[in-house]
Amino acid sequence: MAMKGLWLENNQLQLRTDLEIPEPPPGEALVRVLRAGICNTDIELLRGYYPYTGILGHEFVGVVEQGPENLINQRVVGEINAVCGKCRFCRRGQPTHCENRTVLGIVNRHGAFAEYLCLPIENLHPVPENVSTEAATFTEPIAAALEIQQQVSLSSDDRVLVVGDGKLGQLVAQTLALTGCDLLVVGRHQQKLANLEARGIKTGLADAVIDSAFDISVECTGNPEGFAIARRALRPRGTLVLKSTYAGKLSLDASSLVVDEITLIGSRCGPFPAALELLANGKVDLQPLIHACYPLSQGLGAFENAQSRGVLKVLLEMSN
Ligand SMILES: [Zn+2]
Ligand SMILES: [Zn+2]
Repeated sequence: MAMKGLWLENNQLQLRTDLEIPEPPPGEALVRVLRAGICNTDIELLRGYYPYTGILGHEFVGVVEQGPENLINQRVVGEINAVCGKCRFCRRGQPTHCENRTVLGIVNRHGAFAEYLCLPIENLHPVPENVSTEAATFTEPIAAALEIQQQVSLSSDDRVLVVGDGKLGQLVAQTLALTGCDLLVVGRHQQKLANLEARGIKTGLADAVIDSAFDISVECTGNPEGFAIARRALRPRGTLVLKSTYAGKLSLDASSLVVDEITLIGSRCGPFPAALELLANGKVDLQPLIHACYPLSQGLGAFENAQSRGVLKVLLEMSN
């Protein structure tokens, strides 16, 4: 049996209809994908920043078709790192750093922009009934936003700056706001900032950032200008959280980091259960983030749209 999917090869994305429906190996489940979200990482893979050949996509909601009894016909989301369970990182309880990992739609594992995917059973989390399929598509990026709170402890005394009002910046801002910290979000897009203002979050343009005024800054732009703003905002002994990857090499004034004793923290995948709980409790508002939803058969158009300026989340719908 063949299935449709978006296949990346040599920086070219194509809609294929001749892909094989995968057979789940032992320990894995077969998931029929309902919806998936296009993320900046997908766009970076398309542009060739990392080598990858195969089906793209890692943010999804699906229904289990083959797997353990208790999951059959359940709506699920899935953690994207498939790990060995044996290496030093797995044994230390840091599986997202597994030395032998494959990553859904990113490293050596076919992704979610297709009618079916396979993932280890342990990666799957049932979606609470009151969470819509559309909202659940955001579980993975919400989890990534929540990773910041696993790495840095925040209190209402902390002045926190988020740089970037894009897809990730919006989720980072919404999740940080829930901690009660003193938050400012800066970006370049009035409409995107207005989404946050509507939730009572302070926003501004880059010139609203006072130098050395913040305890923590979170860089969500992936560009050198964003990094520069996040850096200059920090007081000595402040913490700079890097939430975005960078297309090229970033050049920075390392001496100033030494002199000011700045802590740099890279931040990637985060906790799914906490993300699902926020969704179930309606603590994040995703509606303003959704720009459009395309059927999989129009996936190439969806990607074009996702790359246009000012566009937030573009979703793909798999079932016909
Ligand atoms: Zn992503
Ligand atoms: Zn491992």
